[in-house]
Amino acid sequence: MNTFQLTIIGSGSAVPSSHRAATSQVVQYDNKYIMIDCAEGTQMQLKRNKVSPMRIEHFFISHLHGDHYFGLIGLINTLHLIGKTSPIHLHGPAVLLDIIRLQLKAADTTLRFPLLFHPLKEGCKHLMFEDEHLRYWSFPVVHRIPTWGFVFEEKQEAVEAAQSEMEETAFQQQNCHPRSYAFCTDTAFRPELADYFRGVDLLYHESTFEHHLAKTAEATFHSTNVQAAEMAKAAEVKRLLLGHFSSRYTDLTPMLDEARELFQNTLLALDGSIFDI
Ligand SMILES: [Zn+2]
Repeated sequence: MNTFQLTIIGSGSAVPSSHRAATSQVVQYDNKYIMIDCAEGTQMQLKRNKVSPMRIEHFFISHLHGDHYFGLIGLINTLHLIGKTSPIHLHGPAVLLDIIRLQLKAADTTLRFPLLFHPLKEGCKHLMFEDEHLRYWSFPVVHRIPTWGFVFEEKQEAVEAAQSEMEETAFQQQNCHPRSYAFCTDTAFRPELADYFRGVDLLYHESTFEHHLAKTAEATFHSTNVQAAEMAKAAEVKRLLLGHFSSRYTDLTPMLDEARELFQNTLLALDGSIFDI
């Protein structure tokens, strides 16, 4: 099987905290690297996690709240400075391209690499991109401004190719099925969203608050730990990762325990943690 792995670069939410960085993740499939969200501070977090930004081919930005993309222009600028020439695919809300262009224009910077922009589509689940191994989907969630989640789905052909290689080299056949990862933040709790990521192997779902703050969650278009567990259960996913924690929480054990009462196979997306998909 090809490597299909998720690294949590930051799992915090809006207000900076000394114990976790704001949202960013890296998905690795074989030699391909995909970044999801790019909060302020992501470049330093990449260094701490020994992920080279030069390897990242795709950037997915879920929405334009600062704690999800204020690091993007810095990272793009660094890639320009250190000599990247291969293209970058940037998937994000349409206005993001205007923001990036204005920032580059003000700095009189002409990027050395092609920046290929893919605007996210409103309304339904949409196939954004595909390559030989993966399909990249976006889907709308419910937040204060337009926001999207993403699904990264391994293709059947990629599984079969990896399987035949394993047979040739006499490795034991493992349980090979197309694997998938879904990223779902920031969103209010809406059970109907479960259809967008039904049956995925790993679901990252926001869990900004503990459940006694459900009213605060709804008022701010966020979800609680128990609501994340309900989504995982409704969508029949294999594993749930809780993240996007409010800076008010230092000990996340109660958050985890409460979610596990509803969905046992729940884990915490702590900064620097790595999960096989
Ligand atoms: Zn937000």
